[in-house]
Amino acid sequence: KDNDHRILGQQMDLFSFSEVAPGMVFYHNNGLIIYNELVNYWREEHRKAGYQEISTPQILDQKLWQISGHWEKYKENIFLTKYEDRQFAVKPMNCPGGMMIYKNKPKSYKDLPLRVGELGIVHRQELSGVLAGLFRVIKFTQDDAHIFCTEEQLETEIANIIKLIDIFYKKFNVEFDHVELSTRPEKRMGDEKTWDLAESTLENVLKKRKMKYKLNPGDGVFYGPKIDFHVKDSLGRTWQCSTIQLDFQMPERFELEYTDKDDSKKRPIMLHRVIYGSIERFMGILLEHLNGRLPTWLSPVQVKILSFTDKNIKAVEKLYEELKTNGI
Ligand code: ZN
Repeated sequence: KDNDHRILGQQMDLFSFSEVAPGMVFYHNNGLIIYNELVNYWREEHRKAGYQEISTPQILDQKLWQISGHWEKYKENIFLTKYEDRQFAVKPMNCPGGMMIYKNKPKSYKDLPLRVGELGIVHRQELSGVLAGLFRVIKFTQDDAHIFCTEEQLETEIANIIKLIDIFYKKFNVEFDHVELSTRPEKRMGDEKTWDLAESTLENVLKKRKMKYKLNPGDGVFYGPKIDFHVKDSLGRTWQCSTIQLDFQMPERFELEYTDKDDSKKRPIMLHRVIYGSIERFMGILLEHLNGRLPTWLSPVQVKILSFTDKNIKAVEKLYEELKTNGI
């Protein structure tokens, strides 16, 4: 109980919650420093891995959610709002916004694989009874990305995501516990043949990399199967963080296209993936895992300078300025 992140959050002056905004974090200065450092590291690694970054609107027309299928399958979790007699939804996911950017300009096979990241803020209605600190929130930031590629590029792209996940878990010193492969759920879009192909592709990648995994029948997303990565913390608890979802449906519904070598129009395949999962939740896991003892680069207070006598004050001030100008 000592390392409950809600208590650590208070002691370290990181964040707070209020009844006026259930499940939504009020970041204090110290907490926002951690948040920003997590984001900075994310940007650095994704730039190296060949990702672009975009940002899409917070509220989008209901029409878009009907096309994506979220309206039908996810409506009760969405916050609604109106503007000039039009129905809008506060985004619970980033995908449809990303689709609009893909469609904004014609694509050719030379543009693929296209890796597009978005640190997207999403809102999802949850029953207030299940909200729990940073672990279960209503508003959170997903370190999202969508990868558009051809069938031939698919396995390599999935393997690249797994490599990226590895880099992150090593950086934060969290142990890899197990992987789950979730297959077609009862409520789903698309034909059985496509699901066969999607499931066997994910399975192939795991087998080729000799990764052990549990099969989770029926737990896939309505648009495709997924691989979930579970980490183990210092208390031996496991948490689901990273996810890779394979999707043949969304490109179909949004009529995404690219022009192939022979000038024919083809549909790209899409991958949805997160590494941290939600930045809020990852921060909570990290705080408990490390019992608040964050590595220096992530720590809101990196150095404290103590003066033992008044005579030192000038030297202390000089040192303070020097550290500050050096980004400490
Ligand atoms: Zn997505």
